Amino acid sequence: MNILNESRKPARPAPRLLLVKSAGRITPNMIRVTLHSADLGDIVEGCEGANCKLMLPEQDQPLEDFSRQLTDGPRPTTRTYTVRHFRKEACEMDIDFVAHGDYGPASAWAARARPGDFCGFAGPGRVKVPSFYADWYLLAADMSAIPVVAATLEAMPQDARGVAIFEIPTAADRQTIVAPTGVRQHWIVTPETGQPSPLQERLIREIDWPDGRVQTCIAGESSVINGLRQYLQVERGLPRDDTYISGYWKIGLVEDEHQNMKR
Ligand SMILES: Cc1cc2nc3c(=O)[nH]c(=O)nc-3n(C[C@H](O)[C@H](O)[C@H](O)COP(=O)(O)OP(=O)(O)OC[C@H]3O[C@@H](n4cnc5c(N)ncnc54)[C@H](O)[C@@H]3O)c2cc1C
Repeated sequence: MNILNESRKPARPAPRLLLVKSAGRITPNMIRVTLHSADLGDIVEGCEGANCKLMLPEQDQPLEDFSRQLTDGPRPTTRTYTVRHFRKEACEMDIDFVAHGDYGPASAWAARARPGDFCGFAGPGRVKVPSFYADWYLLAADMSAIPVVAATLEAMPQDARGVAIFEIPTAADRQTIVAPTGVRQHWIVTPETGQPSPLQERLIREIDWPDGRVQTCIAGESSVINGLRQYLQVERGLPRDDTYISGYWKIGLVEDEHQNMKR
């Protein structure tokens, strides 16, 4: 008799407890939190751009209490983020949080984070663009997707060609991203209005579309992404396998509501 239930999914590894090593603004609306733990030593290098789940303690929750909650439940407030940098030897990683106010628990936690603070971590998942085989690349990001697009640009072959569009709320939110010289970067400034911005789609529709195979790495506010997905996958007929395009948040919805809506 087969005593193994082969349909059973492998158990998910327990979340890791990470400590804040440092935290601060890298631009006016982006907070970088560096997290560390010896537990990060077994993560495979090259996970920059992969997403992860961060579990957030309540304000003033003691470490022992949160640590017990991570193991025994109930599940703490959990949000999805991107590994921006991973330094395996130092057992540390950087996560970049959009500072969008106190209403979001993750944004508020990052704004308060100080060395010695802690959070839970699960992941990382798979990188979003694991291989590069296109003649031409299209990348686009709002603030929430700068980490995934920047990590993707840094991983690309040096002779890659294409366009990368970044939409930011102030000129000072521009970052220096090491990208192949053949990928033109456009930084557009759109002050926060609380409405989906039409600018990325407008710019992308104006592109003189080159011949050859295209790969994309595009993420951001869900309504903006829906418009871009319609254009790229339906009107232009780009194959789904070549187009990473994902709604990372939605105006007016907290993450769990947004995830439920996507499902
Ligand atoms: C695969 C993936 C990777 C992601 N990587 C990153 C990352 O590296 N960095 C990052 O900052 N975000 C990232 N996000 C987006 C992040 O998960 C959401 O922005 C999340 O809602 C933030 O949680 P919160 O607790 O701050 O706000 P929530 O409690 O979820 O939302 C509170 C309110 O804030 C609004 N809100 C949420 N996000 C934003 C925003 N970016 N700008 C303005 N208003 C917002 C919501 O509409 C809601 O009204 C990623 C999402 C996905 C799916």
